[in-house]
This record gives sequence, C-alpha cells and structure tokens, in this order.
Amino acid sequence: MRNIDHFIGGAAIASGERQGDVFDPNNGGVQAKVGFGSAVDLDKAVRIALDAQHGWAATNPQRRARVMFKFKELVEKNIEELALLLSSEHGKVIADARGDVQRGLDVIEFACGIPHALKGEYTQGAGPGIDVYSMRQPLGVVAGITPFNFPAMIPMWMFGVAIAVGNAFILKPSERDPSVPVRLAELMLEAGAPEGILQVVHGDKEMVDAILDHDDIKAVSFVGSSDIAHYVYKRGVANGKRVQAMGGAKNHGIVMPDADLDQVVNDLSGAAFGSAGERCMALPVVVPVGEKTANELREALLPAIAKLRVGVSTDPEAHYGPVVNAAHKQRIENYIQMGVDEGAELVVDGRGFSLQGHENGFFVGPTLFDHVKPTMQSYQEEIFGPVLQIVRADSFEEALRLPSDHQYGNGVAIFTRNGHAAREFAHRVNVGMVGINVPIPVPVAYHSFGGWKRSAFGDINQHGMEGVRFWTKTKTITQRWPDGSATGENAFVIPTMG
Ligand code: NAD
Repeated sequence: MRNIDHFIGGAAIASGERQGDVFDPNNGGVQAKVGFGSAVDLDKAVRIALDAQHGWAATNPQRRARVMFKFKELVEKNIEELALLLSSEHGKVIADARGDVQRGLDVIEFACGIPHALKGEYTQGAGPGIDVYSMRQPLGVVAGITPFNFPAMIPMWMFGVAIAVGNAFILKPSERDPSVPVRLAELMLEAGAPEGILQVVHGDKEMVDAILDHDDIKAVSFVGSSDIAHYVYKRGVANGKRVQAMGGAKNHGIVMPDADLDQVVNDLSGAAFGSAGERCMALPVVVPVGEKTANELREALLPAIAKLRVGVSTDPEAHYGPVVNAAHKQRIENYIQMGVDEGAELVVDGRGFSLQGHENGFFVGPTLFDHVKPTMQSYQEEIFGPVLQIVRADSFEEALRLPSDHQYGNGVAIFTRNGHAAREFAHRVNVGMVGINVPIPVPVAYHSFGGWKRSAFGDINQHGMEGVRFWTKTKTITQRWPDGSATGENAFVIPTMG
C-alpha cells in the first residue's frame, strides 16, 4: 500500500500513527494511506520555513518571479501525469483534471508578474520637504488549508501569490486527494524555490488546529465548507492571524423568458453536472422566470440529461465521473431523499446508479428536481453533487430575491438577451460573482475570486491584486531630509501638511 508523506524541508517525512484512506473512486477500494500529522510535525515545518523565509524575502522580486516561470514550465511539462494522478484520487474526468491544473497555472502566470504588482506608491512633496512612500512586505510564514474538489487549482491560488511576494508557505491539503499537492511542492523545489518555501503537511482537524494556534504562522487562507470556514476564521482571528476563509455555495442560474434556451441547456448541463457537481461554482439551482419558460426549460433539459454519460474518470467520452468517496455519495443520496420527503417533484432520480464492471465505484446519476420551494432544507443547503433543482419564479424581482436572500452568495448567473435586465441584475444581486450568459463566472487569475455571505469569511479575495494585498503588509514611510534650517516651531502640535 502506497503511503503519502508530508513534504517538509524538501523531503518526504513519514507522518504520525493516525492514517486516513485515500480511495480510488472508480472502484471504491483504498489505493493509498495518508498519515495524519500533529502539532509536532507542523512545528518542524514552521522552523524550517522561518529559516528559509528571510533569504527568500531578500531575494529580489525578479529572481523570485523566475522561479515561478520555471515552475510554470515544469507543471506544463508534467500536466498529463498531474491530471491522471488528480483524477485517480478525486474522480473527475481527465480533461476536467487538466482544467483544474490549468486554472491554477493561470495564477502562477499572474505571479510571474510579481515585480510589477509589488511596486509601491510614492508621493513627492506631500509636505514641505516631505515625501511619502509605501512598500509591501511579506508576512513571514503563512499557511493554506484546501478542500478536496480542486486539489491543484486552489493550492496554486494561494501559494502562487504568497510565495511570489516573499513568504514561506505551508500547505495542508485535503486528506481525500493529497498526492497532487505534494507533487506540486516537489516541482517548486525543482524550479528553484529553496527548501522550506513550500512544504506540505497532512492531517485532519488536529493539524488544522495546530496551524491556527501556531504563533509563527501569520496568515491562513482556507477554502472548504462554510461551518469549518467560519470555525477557522474565528479561531485564526482570535489568535491574531490574518484569515480569509472561503465556504460553501448554492449558485443560481436565472433564466429570463427571452434567453436562448438551447444555449442555456448546454451551459446548465456542464455547470450542474460537470465534475459530478463537486464545484463551488457549479449551478445546482435553475430559476426559470414565468410558467412558459419553466415548462420549456424542463422539456429541453430531459433529453440533455438522458444523453449524459457517467463513466470512470479515465473514460474520454464520460461527461463526469464518480464522486469523491462513499460518505459523500451517501450524503448526496440523503439529500435526494430529503427533497422527495419535502414534496419536491423528483423528475430524474440518479440514485442506485451502477456502472458495469465498477459496481463499487462512487457513482451518482444525474438528478433533476422540479417545483423546489425556497422553504425546503434541500434547497437551503449545499448538496455538492449532480443534482439540479428547478425553482420556478413568476417575475424578475422574485428571481432576483432568491439568490439574494440565500445564505450562500458565491456565484450566480443570468441568462437573457436583455441588456437592461442583465445590468440591473448584476447591480442589485446580493452575491459576490456574477455571470451574464456565463454559467460559471470564475474570474480570471488577474481579477480576484470571492463570494459573499456564508460563502466567505474575512474581507479579502483570492488571487489577483487582492491576493497580493492578503499576503503582504503595507509599510508607509514619511521622510524628510532636513537642510539644517528648521526652527522647531509647532513641535507640540500634531503635524499637518498645510
Ligand atoms: P471541508 O470543509 O470538509 O474540508 C476543507 C478542509 O478543512 C480540508 O483540508 C479538511 O481537512 C479540513 N477540515 C475538515 N474537517 C475539519 C474540522 N472539523 N476542523 C478543521 N478542519 C477541518 O471541505 P471539502 O469537502 O474538502 O470541500 C468541499 C467544500 O468546499 C464545499 O462546501 C465547497 O463549496 C467548498 N469550496 C468552496 C470554494 C470557494 O472558493 N468558496 C472553492 C472550492 C470548494
């Protein structure tokens, strides 16, 4: 049985006595064991990081950027191997796994421009003989805690920027698919990052708590489910750390009566069922406006769903693969039962899906509910599976209220040909990321990613310039070079520049 070890100080280090199973979601078997580390393992990594960080911060930004360029090159060279490894532990199909790596690489590309992004501000002559300038300095040793659903992209969102600005980064990836993060750390070392600049520690709550409580870790970025995000935020902040904690989602797609239905059905199929719905920017709720739109949409969705091919993650023809583990499959099926019990109409039932030759794989067939009501628990909570819920609305205003009032506010999309309606919607909706005829509005790497309400705790987004702000602190210098003629007047009055 393969063991997945910590990556500390540039080497594989066996982790504690407790271990977790890493499954092969296609077959249901255990393919590897990952050791769960403790505060002692973490402290080892932090000490190495502290040693390495000073030299790294003192390395000029152009040289740090060159490491990122080299890393990008190495990831590109190894992308097939990474995608295969990712897909074998996560269960997403290979093409989608490649996309997971590529979306992370986009942030690495942004990080290659760090010398420019790090430039400070300067005001000459802010007062008599006085200049003011500001600089951004790294925080020191920082950490990231990541979810299972994007084991390449989300670590790269975080460490790409954090390392480029001069920090040492400790990554605690999901224990469900931990191999790709370790591989990325090996490639960073190969790219020229000093040992200790990117380290990986494995574990569960014990390791997360150790990170949140360690005095020498100055900032924590978290992505995962909302209750844990909130917990991480509170505990980290109480310990004086800078924390951003992204949580769950329940993204809505509003379909206006004038929308291009063929396009909507096409977009919805991918956004609701792609990656078995295990995306925080999936579209699991569709809100057709008006009875006619709803009926036509439902009719058009049925054949599209019937055509979906669920297969093993290595099947190039498959639209999506298995979900990550048996517990998650059970959780999704429980939500389907909940929807039935609450009185929603189960139009397509994906439970009991079995793939010949892979009967023990964690597959869930595509599922469609109609007549879902906002009062239902199965609507209010995140299912994170291949389940699409139709919530019918009578008007634009009612459709606008649904995502706005929902506890989550990650992403939302509107499908329409009416520019005024789209503009009004984008302006008024109480959600952090909006797509206009774009089903999955994940911003490009040089913009930033972040939801609202229970989809994110803390106030600074991931990557782009917000990432640069999160991973640095601003120092502002007010300087004067006296010419010897000062009189010392007003020394007891608060200085003004007037
Ligand atoms: P999760 O919350 O179970 O795990 C996330 C991380 O927290 C993992 O590293 C895990 O080891 C750790 N963790 C788990 N239990 C913990 C506990 N009790 N105490 C402390 N740490 C704990 O999330 P997941 O199932 O891996 O990922 C799916 C979730 O992540 C979904 O809710 C999804 O919407 C969300 N997500 C959000 C975004 C975003 O940017 N908003 C992006 C991707 C995923």
